[in-house]
Amino acid sequence: MPTERALSPLPGTLKKLGVITAIRDTQLVEQSLLRTLAPILGVLETSLYRINGQHQITHILHHSRTGTRDSAGAERIAERIEAIRNETNLPEHIALLIDNVRLLGQACNRPGPEGLVFCYPLRSGEQQCGYLVFERRRQLTAMEDAVVTGVLQVYSNYYALLDSSQRDRLTGLHNRYAMEVSLDRLWEELSNHLPPRDGYWLAVLDIDHFKNINDQYGHVIGDEILLLVSRVLGKTLRRTDMLFRYGGEEFIVIVEARDLELATQFFERLRKAVESYRYPQVGQVTLSGGFSAVATTVLPKSILERADRAMYEAKKAGRNRVFHYQALLDQGVLEELETGSITLF
Ligand code: GH3
Ligand code: MG
Ligand code: MG
Repeated sequence: MPTERALSPLPGTLKKLGVITAIRDTQLVEQSLLRTLAPILGVLETSLYRINGQHQITHILHHSRTGTRDSAGAERIAERIEAIRNETNLPEHIALLIDNVRLLGQACNRPGPEGLVFCYPLRSGEQQCGYLVFERRRQLTAMEDAVVTGVLQVYSNYYALLDSSQRDRLTGLHNRYAMEVSLDRLWEELSNHLPPRDGYWLAVLDIDHFKNINDQYGHVIGDEILLLVSRVLGKTLRRTDMLFRYGGEEFIVIVEARDLELATQFFERLRKAVESYRYPQVGQVTLSGGFSAVATTVLPKSILERADRAMYEAKKAGRNRVFHYQALLDQGVLEELETGSITLF
């Protein structure tokens, strides 16, 4: 006869919630959520989906556990967490299930390839902002359902709090801190790839003569311009790009582009979008930018510094233009600083 403690997943769950809410990184919190729930539910695969800025459902995290028995018959579980970048093509049965949950506003399940597929909504306030999906053979008991619902509620509240601390109040964009975390993470990912990957570019974009706008029209209009510029930039970005408010009137974008030509075209498109928008009262607003490749041979801090130096050259050259750091080096406009490059032996 099993004891009550063995039947109830509650004590272990509470302890794990303590662990989740001690983490200060949104991605690690998501991973920890899947690690917490999978063993409670006895499932081998769990996935987390989020609704992105363009209202698309994207698969962001996949957690799998593989059970093996060693020669002594003891079971070992190997865990694998996979962060998924930008996948929007959902299998049809998952897409249908998520649709159901979205419409009904509550957890649902439907038959899947190996049993029942369950989907729980993640909420941010009244809105659904993501979905937890897992498959198992048996229905959930009322107790299991209550545990999953409770854990997701604590997780969602905590995630929202953490996320708001990484966003800028005025524009809602991710802030400087979030940028540093994202850049470090991207850099690590690219470095761990064999051979090291490239194809990412970072640009610093700074509004031209913004002080004049404040002086001439006041801070309220100044704020309005910051908001509009962030919207114009956001609308021009593609799903895979990342946009941050770096400081007062400075933005950072990190984009994926196969080569220099495509990156140049893309940053030029951003510059033109800002230039051609008509801002109420103020009329035209422009920005200057500098960009640099996210190379694994250059430390993240130096990548930023390079883009920043190129941006200052764009200001010096008359503003409303975007310069490439390496091109400035090649032209002899800038000289390489000693620091930052990693020497490989
Ligand atoms: P440059 O073309 O050389 O970049 O000139 P600039 O005037 O844009 O640059 P400067 O750094 O001299 O001035 C930036 C101004 O941005 C100063 C600051 O008051 C203003 N600013 C920074 N953050 C905010 C904000 O949140 N709201 C408003 N309204 N103004 C801000
Ligand atoms: Mg500035
Ligand atoms: Mg400026």
